[in-house]
Amino acid sequence: MNATPFLDLRHIRKEFGGFTALADINLEIGRGDFVCFLGPSGCGKTTLLRIIAGLEVQTRGQILQDGRDISLLPPALRDYGIVFQSYALFPNLSVADNVAYGLVNRKTPRAEIRQRVTELVKLVGLPGSENKFPGQLSGGQQQRIALARALATSPGLLLLDEPLSALDALERIRLRQEIRALQQKLGVTTIMVTHDQEEALSVADRIVVMNHGVIEQVGTPMEVYREPATPFVADFVGKVNVLPARRVDGELHLGSLRLPSEGSDGDVRVYMRPEDVLARPIAPGDLHVFDACIDKIEFLGSFCHVHVASPALGAHKLTVYLSLNFLSEQSLQVGSTVTLKLLPERVKVF
Ligand code: ATP
Repeated sequence: MNATPFLDLRHIRKEFGGFTALADINLEIGRGDFVCFLGPSGCGKTTLLRIIAGLEVQTRGQILQDGRDISLLPPALRDYGIVFQSYALFPNLSVADNVAYGLVNRKTPRAEIRQRVTELVKLVGLPGSENKFPGQLSGGQQQRIALARALATSPGLLLLDEPLSALDALERIRLRQEIRALQQKLGVTTIMVTHDQEEALSVADRIVVMNHGVIEQVGTPMEVYREPATPFVADFVGKVNVLPARRVDGELHLGSLRLPSEGSDGDVRVYMRPEDVLARPIAPGDLHVFDACIDKIEFLGSFCHVHVASPALGAHKLTVYLSLNFLSEQSLQVGSTVTLKLLPERVKVF
């Protein structure tokens, strides 16, 4: 990152008693970026977000926001809005009073508050809802109001702690698109914690993949998906086939297949995305082609997850994505043989 980062985390460490929740986190976030902290339960993503918010104090390390050292500032003196997983609206306050909460604390004039609240509820797609109470709103609507409340003071930083995880699947997709559109419109630097890789891939400018208190990789969604830095990232982000292989004289021996491969000789693990094993186009003379027997077909609509086994791969099984059209055109079913081709340039070796 060339420009001065908007948020700069330096050597953040967090211990709970003898347990290290965050080891040594270094991360720069650019102004206006939408960043997702992605990782499995317990990896430390919420702890990191709470440290940025001042809701948790780091054991060691420094945080700079917009050039200011905020490492030891209490939450009230930091410049952020936050939305939590559970709606966390005040149930006894109207939508208007919930949204106005931060503005009242700042002693904003009443007329200005009223105008800002009207503007905000409209911005989150709930115009006219000012007099309702949280209990009269759906989960998704409550999160929209929580978002309006978080944005009310026009903070420099928007923090979202799994804001979508309590919603049903359709509402989750709808709201994540709305949040992204709103974030782009306002240009507010945003961090969202999620354990849902699809969510992170679909909204983030950059994804911070975390595991056991360390950052495994920081990259654009395309980078972490296509160029995973570690086996963990390859495995956690997207589906992947993992097969044992051996590298001999710059050639990968994968079952009876031979693929070009750089690196030192020895036993390795090969990571292949299901979409990088093709059933077409395959032309006569193509390399890295093999026959496989269909073991199982998982019907998922227009695409199916097809599990195959092939003598060419030894005893190892593979999942590939085949279109329903292709399966019916070729009359493929469980027990059928399908010809497949590997794309060696897409194969990752660790
Ligand atoms: P989840 O999605 O389950 O919330 P996470 O990645 O956000 O997971 P954190 O909540 O940051 O994980 O927790 C990281 C680790 O620190 C976990 O092992 C958790 O048990 C531990 N931890 C978090 N808060 C505390 C605390 N207050 N006291 C002791 N241990 C804690």
